[in-house]
Parts: sequence; structure tokens; C-alpha cells
Amino acid sequence: MTVDSSALPFKPDPGQFFHIRCAGTYSPFLRRPLSIYQIHEHTLEFLYVVKGKGTTAMTRIRKGDTLDMMGPVGKGFELYKQAETVLLIARGVGIATLAAVAQAAFQQKAHCVAVLSARTEEDLLAAEYLEEFGATVYKVTDEGGTSDVSHVKQLIQEDILPFYKIDSLYTCGSRRLSKLAQSIAFDHQIPGEIALEEHMGCAMGACFACVCDIQEGREKKSVRVCMEGPVFPLEKVVME
Ligand SMILES: Cc1cc2nc3c(=O)[nH]c(=O)nc-3n(C[C@H](O)[C@H](O)[C@H](O)COP(=O)(O)OP(=O)(O)OC[C@H]3O[C@@H](n4cnc5c(N)ncnc54)[C@H](O)[C@@H]3O)c2cc1C
Repeated sequence: MTVDSSALPFKPDPGQFFHIRCAGTYSPFLRRPLSIYQIHEHTLEFLYVVKGKGTTAMTRIRKGDTLDMMGPVGKGFELYKQAETVLLIARGVGIATLAAVAQAAFQQKAHCVAVLSARTEEDLLAAEYLEEFGATVYKVTDEGGTSDVSHVKQLIQEDILPFYKIDSLYTCGSRRLSKLAQSIAFDHQIPGEIALEEHMGCAMGACFACVCDIQEGREKKSVRVCMEGPVFPLEKVVME
């Protein structure tokens, strides 16, 4: 979905999101958060998978309609200016969130290596889009038997880390892959960030529906994904 964003007074950051009213009625009552997939001069693009009531209602939005959307919300990714090579690890629609990082990396002439995971080859979203940005893309799927964590770990350890000096790592879309990303980042001392996709109510910090735990030194803290996130330092997020 492409929206005219020319009235926005500033450009959003990769990783930020909009809280979108899916229909002209109060059904569904709650807005749905969607990450910004692509950021252009006067337009923003969103990539969503039709799952339930909200996203189904969004399919009825027509060209020329006015969209009620709140944002940009939250804290986005920090792409280090010195980064020359970045690694993206995304599962499913998590790539919608990381694609804007690939776009930003391309704009600062950094190379992007991406591991994209999905149920089927058909569900592998945005692979060509990343390749347009010169990204090296590794695809893994459930149907191909290549998406289990041990395989992805082997892929990263044997085909990626020996050949690319990864300066930073970004992940979204899967707890299992995020845990793997956390251990790889720790073992290889790579700074990393994660975008969390918790169920969200108000996206204004009031309802506390999207709370998750982070570790600050010895202290475990509960934070709101909408306000303090959705992007967090990878090493701080407590993954159960
Ligand atoms: C920061 C962020 C970014 C996201 N970006 C994307 C994206 O780029 N593309 C994409 O496809 N998806 C994205 N999602 C997921 C998306 O917002 C939807 O949750 C998902 O697509 C399912 O929505 P649905 O309306 O189709 O499903 P439904 O089954 O109708 O609704 C599920 C959603 O309902 C809401 N909900 C229902 N009841 C409650 C309740 N009692 N309390 C709180 N919440 C409730 C939640 O928001 C939940 O996500 C993102 C989520 C987050 C948090």
C-alpha cells in the first residue's frame, strides 16, 4: 500500500511504524500497526500480509481514499554511519520492517547480506526488492527443509561470517531466529538491533498491551514496544 506522505514535516526512520485505521468504521475498533516498508521523497510504502479482520479490511482501501493513520510512531533502527556491511535476518512479514534498513544501507553505500525465511518460496517477500539494492540474499523455507534454526546457524557460520565483515545485525519476525541472532551477535561481538512485533492496542503508551521485558544490567525492566521500541538493542531483549 502506497500513501502520499508529502504533508509529513520530516522523513520517518527505518523501523518506525504507523498505527492505521483499517476501515472507515469502528470495526475493527483497534488500529493495526504497520512498519514503513519503503521511504520515498513524497510517498511511504507498507507491505502487509492479510491475516485477520484488520488486514482484510485494509484490502478494501481503494486508490485515492484518505487513510486515517497515526505516526510515525516509535524508535527506529540506528544504522551506524561507518557500517560497510550489515546482516539482516528476517522471517515472514518481518522483512517489511527490515527492508527500510536495506534501503538506508544502500543509500549510505553499505552492502547488505540478508537471510530471509518463510514457510514457502511464495511467502518469501521482498527478496527481489533487496536485490535491487545490491543485497546478497539467502532464502530459506519450511517447505524446502532449510529454515530450521540449526540450518540457518550453519548457513550464517559457514557461508556468511567467514566472507563478510559484518558491522551490524538487524532482525525481525521470529523469536527462534532472534535468539539465534542474539547468540551470533554475542559470540562475534556484532552490535545488533531487533524490531519487536507485539500485539498492540493504543500505540500511545497508555494501554500497556505491548509490554515486553528487557535486561538493563542486573535489572529486568518492562517496556512498551510502542513507546520505548519497537526497535531495541538485540542483547537487551529477554526472549523466553
Ligand atoms: C510495530 C509493528 C509493526 C508491524 N508491521 C507489520 C507490517 O509491516 N506488515 C504486516 O503485515 N504486519 C505488521 N505487523 C503486524 C500487524 O500489525 C497485525 O497485527 C497483523 O498483520 C494481524 O492483523 P489482522 O488485523 O489481520 O489480524 P487480527 O487477527 O484481526 O488482529 C490481530 C491484531 O489485533 C489486535 N488486537 C486484537 N485484540 C486485541 C486486544 N484485546 N488487545 C490488543 N490488541 C488486540 C492486535 O493488534 C493484533 O495484532 C506489525 C506489528 C507491530 C507491533
